[in-house]
Amino acid sequence: MSNKENDDLLAETTQLLSQEIPSGVDRRTFLMRSAVVGATAVMTGRVVSAQERTERSTAAPPLAQDLNVVQKGKGPILTTVDEFYKVGPGPSSSHTIGPMRITYDFYQRATKLPADKLAKATALKVHLFGSLSATGKGHGTERAALAGLVGKEPATVDPAFLDSLRDKPDQTFPVKLGDKSVTVSRKDIVYDATKGGCKHPNTMSAKLMAGDEVLLEQEYYSVGGGFIEWKGYTPPKKNAPKYPFATMKELRAHADNNKLSIAKVMLANEMSIMGRTEEEVYAFVDKIINAMTATVRSGLKMPENDVLPGPIKLHSKAATVYKRAMDDSYQSDRGIGALSAYALAASEENGRGHLVITAPTGGSAGVMPALVYGLIENRKVPLEKVRDGMLAAAAIGYLCKHHATLSAAEGGCQAEIGVASSMAAALVATANDAETRVVENAAESALEHHLGMTCDPVAGYVQVPCIERCAFGAVKAWTAYAIASNEIASRHRVDFDATVQALAQTAKDMNSKYKETSEAGLALSVVLC
Ligand code: SF4
Repeated sequence: MSNKENDDLLAETTQLLSQEIPSGVDRRTFLMRSAVVGATAVMTGRVVSAQERTERSTAAPPLAQDLNVVQKGKGPILTTVDEFYKVGPGPSSSHTIGPMRITYDFYQRATKLPADKLAKATALKVHLFGSLSATGKGHGTERAALAGLVGKEPATVDPAFLDSLRDKPDQTFPVKLGDKSVTVSRKDIVYDATKGGCKHPNTMSAKLMAGDEVLLEQEYYSVGGGFIEWKGYTPPKKNAPKYPFATMKELRAHADNNKLSIAKVMLANEMSIMGRTEEEVYAFVDKIINAMTATVRSGLKMPENDVLPGPIKLHSKAATVYKRAMDDSYQSDRGIGALSAYALAASEENGRGHLVITAPTGGSAGVMPALVYGLIENRKVPLEKVRDGMLAAAAIGYLCKHHATLSAAEGGCQAEIGVASSMAAALVATANDAETRVVENAAESALEHHLGMTCDPVAGYVQVPCIERCAFGAVKAWTAYAIASNEIASRHRVDFDATVQALAQTAKDMNSKYKETSEAGLALSVVLC
């Protein structure tokens, strides 16, 4: 016989109601979701505890613990510049560069299948899940995925090819697999479930089919900053770094004990981890510097009022802001205006889906290039100092990746623009010969003042707020350097490691609606007409 108290689900509510609004969800949403769970309990006759109701009301999907990106906080940092700074099509490292690398990887795997299997192939299919499905259309994920599938490499793809995928969506392409050729089109890239039990919010699956038979299948994850993993992924084998570090404190100790700058510690590690010469490391860094200045230059050359692709009909403003800044009678205003224009220029290129550099992501791709361009073109800082700045900036990005995240789908915009601004502050400080502690303080300050920043791209397009946000991130980086280089470094009260910890915790607590899903914030309040 049933207990009378339990029969009446509304009689006793203390077991059903959490006494506190949990972290990671706003009060209104929590109460609404909680009410829905409670109503379901009444309708189904099943009692839902306060704990279960709380868990279901916060509803932020956890990442699978076996992903390398989750386990990364252990051991010394082994990331290298060629993994970190990636050139590829905008507008989003996780939604375009990552997916394009994934389908390119799958294409390569497919070509290696035995000839008898390839002879049976009839189709290639890609499914997008989670955030890739929710906001992929706005990012052009299906175009990037299709480009990789037809064998185009992210770093070398012609932006005109990507523009043609947008302008002529019905095109078909032959994909050569051994002696066989399979035809693919945008229809083969499927926007699948936006929610569900995925290991990572940016999950994809790719299949090579022979009719209904699956010849090859692989599940992939675009884990942020253009990095990718797959089911069964094991990180590549690397040598031990010369100066192993997992925190800024350890990195600073190596620099101090060996009388080296952060940049030179990083150079020694890059050389030892991958067995490269100094020339090889710098040659790669130079390529990235050139790509960054090229993206600013091409963005500034775009006609004033060029309209960016997508439903927002956003007019570009880089050229106008630059021209007006040059006409300003105050030197300081000219500086801020020019720096903003450089960031807008590179970020608008990202919005066009043209080539960008992850530093650390596509959405934040205007921040570092703005400072690199400003240092080289305006300040005439020697190339060697900018190179060192790029290495110090990389150290900041690695630390954030190692202990927190570079993915907006995991941590909101603080993980993109926040980290980019922090990297840029380290770049400027290093290029200005600042001492180690000032480099750290500048990076800390820039990151600190982005903590909590959410990701809410309007209509799922990396344009609003992203493009202007790059300009603010660039200016904040300069402000962080200005403050750090004018204070007594040892009196700075917040160390970089503590701020990265705060970034990680804030990312965990942030409601999933603010993590690149376009379900809240500006994405909700801005009405497009
Ligand atoms: S709001 Fe920030 S994190 Fe989100 S897409 Fe834009 S730049 Fe990236």
